[in-house]
Amino acid sequence: MQSVQSISSLDVLNRVFGYSAFRGEQESIINQVIQGEDALVLMPTGGGKSLCYQIPSIIRDGTGIIVSPLIALMHDQVTALKLQGVAVAFLNSSLSFQDVQEVEEQLMRGELDLLYIAPERLCQPRTLNLLHQINVALFAIDEAHCVSQWGHDFRPEYIQLSVLHEQFPQVPRIALTATADESTRKEISFRLDLDSARLFISSFDRPNIRYRVRQKNNARSQLLQFINAEHPQESGIVYCLSRKKVDETAQWLEEQGIKALPYHAGLSASVRQKHQERFLREEEVVIVATVAFGMGIDKPDVRYVAHMDLPKSLESYYQETGRAGRDGLPADAWMVYGLQDVIMLRQMLSSSEAMEEVKRLEQRKLEAMLGFCEITSCRRKSLLGYFGEQQKETCGNCDNCLEPVESWEGTTEAQKALSCVFRTGQRFGVNYLIDVLRGKMTPRIEQFRHDQVSTFGIGEELSEVQWRSVFRQLMARGLLAVDMDGFGSLKLTNESRPVLRGEEVIHFRKDVVRTKKTGRRKKSGRDASNHFSSKSEEKKIWEALRSKRNELAQEQGVPAYIIFHDATLMEMVEYHPTTLHELSQISGIGAMKLEKYGDEFLLVLNQF
Ligand code: ADP
Ligand code: ZN
Repeated sequence: MQSVQSISSLDVLNRVFGYSAFRGEQESIINQVIQGEDALVLMPTGGGKSLCYQIPSIIRDGTGIIVSPLIALMHDQVTALKLQGVAVAFLNSSLSFQDVQEVEEQLMRGELDLLYIAPERLCQPRTLNLLHQINVALFAIDEAHCVSQWGHDFRPEYIQLSVLHEQFPQVPRIALTATADESTRKEISFRLDLDSARLFISSFDRPNIRYRVRQKNNARSQLLQFINAEHPQESGIVYCLSRKKVDETAQWLEEQGIKALPYHAGLSASVRQKHQERFLREEEVVIVATVAFGMGIDKPDVRYVAHMDLPKSLESYYQETGRAGRDGLPADAWMVYGLQDVIMLRQMLSSSEAMEEVKRLEQRKLEAMLGFCEITSCRRKSLLGYFGEQQKETCGNCDNCLEPVESWEGTTEAQKALSCVFRTGQRFGVNYLIDVLRGKMTPRIEQFRHDQVSTFGIGEELSEVQWRSVFRQLMARGLLAVDMDGFGSLKLTNESRPVLRGEEVIHFRKDVVRTKKTGRRKKSGRDASNHFSSKSEEKKIWEALRSKRNELAQEQGVPAYIIFHDATLMEMVEYHPTTLHELSQISGIGAMKLEKYGDEFLLVLNQF
């Protein structure tokens, strides 16, 4: 489909991709690039960045050159585009010499609308030379934050991409990223010479993601309950801090009858590859992983991301949870969090050997993360606010909005806790302090004669669990610090003083220990698993369509979502098309897929 200038971008959206309307700023971005201007696009994961360069590449004369850092991702995008009838190829180290030659010939003959290419290959003189001989429609630099030296995805090859502007000044460039912060954005601008590019910043809200933070009591069984109640037989990612915990959690889930696979840097490359592949291709796999997993996973139907440990920062939390629900259907960001997490992170920080300045930054990030966990108001508002985006309304789709949290005035309790820390010499951990407060006569307390201190037994009005909650919140707010000694001893901080002097009123969050399944998603959402009641006709159609999709995916050796997304199948159930024309109206079915799969899916639909 080599381009004819007169085709409109909306035509292409309808005909090739099967979508009826642009989302957000897609149309203005696309027009900017079609007109030959540069663009810098900041859009959240799942926002629809790909179309912003795919459509201009199809419409503009020549070939769009797409720089992408990950081979697996490239491969999937190219497979998906081919199924949509787009003339596309990729060049990376996974290809044989012969394949490379073939692609280069296609390129020279001007047959390609898009060429995906790894950055290191693009910058080779040989490739640049080749590009000088053809008509380049545009350069798209995907995952543009990879130029940032301070980011976690830094790719040295990305720095060299400034040659594009030097050697091809007349070709429009579009850089895209889902990393929102201003310093990264400025670095992208600077390194890629995009100062004069038009900036497109979308809202970073992911309204389909429901944020929840649970009090940790028995993390594993809480996780199992969550999966069984809300996402049986669905794709999810479970993050743990350590490799050991990853292995143990995966194995335990497996024993509970859940298809769970571990993923971390301690596994061999081939095992990791195999597990990632199964996660992408099968529909019900749960991957249990360290943060090593995720970059470049653009599986659209991940229904939940669960955190068994606290991430280091809200940046990480946002990025990791953002891997859920790229397809726009309801998804969950679920986390368990407790006293031990706070102690551990505080300890890690205080024993960190990083430079003072780095430590202070880490400290600030941790404070923000803890604040997010303890907050009693809308989590989404707080999360977006952290990234500089102010929301007027509360979201109605986080735990605090759905089940408002009660708080209680605990100034006296805070004073009791803090002075107990002081009276016992700032050398003891939470459990000991609680025993003293509750007047428990243990051998250690006897040994240190802490039954003699004034705070012994002054805290009998709260249970042990309640005191743990108080200590957790005091630590989370920085009113108590964890000592570097490695034993979790608590110390006062500068902030403790005004509280002890009674100059500050303290409110605590009332922890709710949920024993029954609360907060389950209402069936109003378009969530595949919960959408159809279990015995309904609709559910049967849904299952039949899914099994047809699986059959085709296996036949062709591609992930099921590359054939059709869940959202497309759900529309089929809802509108029940009976002719090819009706089927073509369903979102996500372009001309090519209609021709290829239309009859087979109609056959399924017509059985009902
Ligand atoms: P990003 O790269 O920004 O994370 P993608 O480009 O992968 O997002 O798009 C996310 C999902 O949204 C994809 O499944 C894509 O097909 C879908 N999508 C994008 N634009 C539209 C649109 N205008 N209408 C319907 N679906 C869209
Ligand atoms: Zn909310």
